[in-house]
Amino acid sequence: MKTVRTRFAPSPTGSLHIGSARSALFSWLLAKHHGGKFILRIEDTDQKRYVENAVEEFIEMLAWLGIHHDEGPDIGGEFGPYYQSQRLELYQKWAKWLVENDKAYYAYDTPEELEQINQERRAKKLPPGYDGRHRDLTDEQRAAYEAEGRTPVIRFKMRREGTTQVHDLVQGDVEFRNNTLQDIVLLKSDGFPTYHLAHVIDDHFMEITHVTRSNEWLPSLPIHINLWNAFGWEIPAYAHLPVLLNPNGKGKLSKRHVGTKNESGEQILVLVKEYKEAGYLPEALVNFLTNIGWNFGDEREIFTVQEAIQRFDLSGVNPANSAYPIEKLDWINGIYIREHTSIERLAELLREPLQKAGLKVDDEVLLKVTPLVQTRITKLNDVVELAGFFFHETFIPPAKEDIIQKKMDAASTIKLLEATLPRLEALETWTTDAMLQDMDALATELALKRGQVFGALRVAVTGQKISTPTFETMEILGKDESLKRIRLAIDILKG
Ligand code: GLU
Repeated sequence: MKTVRTRFAPSPTGSLHIGSARSALFSWLLAKHHGGKFILRIEDTDQKRYVENAVEEFIEMLAWLGIHHDEGPDIGGEFGPYYQSQRLELYQKWAKWLVENDKAYYAYDTPEELEQINQERRAKKLPPGYDGRHRDLTDEQRAAYEAEGRTPVIRFKMRREGTTQVHDLVQGDVEFRNNTLQDIVLLKSDGFPTYHLAHVIDDHFMEITHVTRSNEWLPSLPIHINLWNAFGWEIPAYAHLPVLLNPNGKGKLSKRHVGTKNESGEQILVLVKEYKEAGYLPEALVNFLTNIGWNFGDEREIFTVQEAIQRFDLSGVNPANSAYPIEKLDWINGIYIREHTSIERLAELLREPLQKAGLKVDDEVLLKVTPLVQTRITKLNDVVELAGFFFHETFIPPAKEDIIQKKMDAASTIKLLEATLPRLEALETWTTDAMLQDMDALATELALKRGQVFGALRVAVTGQKISTPTFETMEILGKDESLKRIRLAIDILKG
């Protein structure tokens, strides 16, 4: 049996899109399921669209997601180079081979002449394209064009009769009529290949067994099949993956949505780096993406990537474009934070959003705060709002109206807080349990609700209405600091 080899072949034209990451993920799962290899190839033949640092970012984001390639531009491999721009001679050699074997030809048309052809086609209500007028030039005609100083492109002699049939592992049997196909350009006049030529040659020489790519390429598939046949090479399996639909349900989730908002006014996240910055865990994101268009079975939505590898199968991929259930991501992320992340790792992960918010993180405090946060956040960034106050250099006191509890006024809240002081002072052990019991008893004595007592203390010691739980927080802050803050709250109430 041949080793399964799949690839992710992005063009470095910008940041890694979440849909591309999902294609990469499926391609990787397929390879790993079969104990095979996953290759990263950079399709950088369109120099005009090249974006600086795009490759570095792809590699960084794939690594963050845990989608590790076995061969690629950064780590090499026996089928390199993995940048198409470094493989130009190979494309030129095989384009020439096609010409020599009467499967392709030199075409000398100028841009103006091509425009002229298009105009004529438009007049006849034909789609734009090339009419093949240089297919059968004589040697003399070619020499004459060369003498004029024209540099030719190489065009494919497309088979126009009959149909092309392919079995796609996701889309099923597909059939195309060849009379709609064109003599496409394979090699441009500057010696650079087009996608059509380059990827077929690379997939052949890199011994790719399964070409997994977005179904946006499905209309080009007959061109590629004809090209494979012209070379006489064994055609790999094709699997055209569904694309993600924009959460508003209108069309594909595309780069155009970067920076836009959905109907509820939330930012639509499109790039992998945006998900990272928003505080999602890579494992949760991978679990979420694996669920879109593929089903683990047993109605399970939460599973490890190892479990997904064991089960992954292209026949389970839904061919239809996938709705994007973004609302599920927070739910999954919360589960990963609560149930699949150790305190040490979570503390490590929480450091970044805290620091980004300009806070100075004390490791010891962070480690104590983490278990309190773990059960209460859905995204890592939520830590800033919930527990950022632990890391403020100086305490930010609460507003008067925030300290006053429901159905109470300033005077009764002052009385309540004043009653807490001697009791808290008298506590021998400064633990959550001791405080909880004592303050519970106080609430009964004062005929107040627990929530009123706990709530006033919470705002007093944290400065905010939403925070980590009151007594756990007071335990971490320590007795002196907690009492000081309660006294300050009383002063604030007294105005
Ligand atoms: N470079 C192509 C793209 O980014 C890759 C398509 C393929 O996987 O063959 O769309």
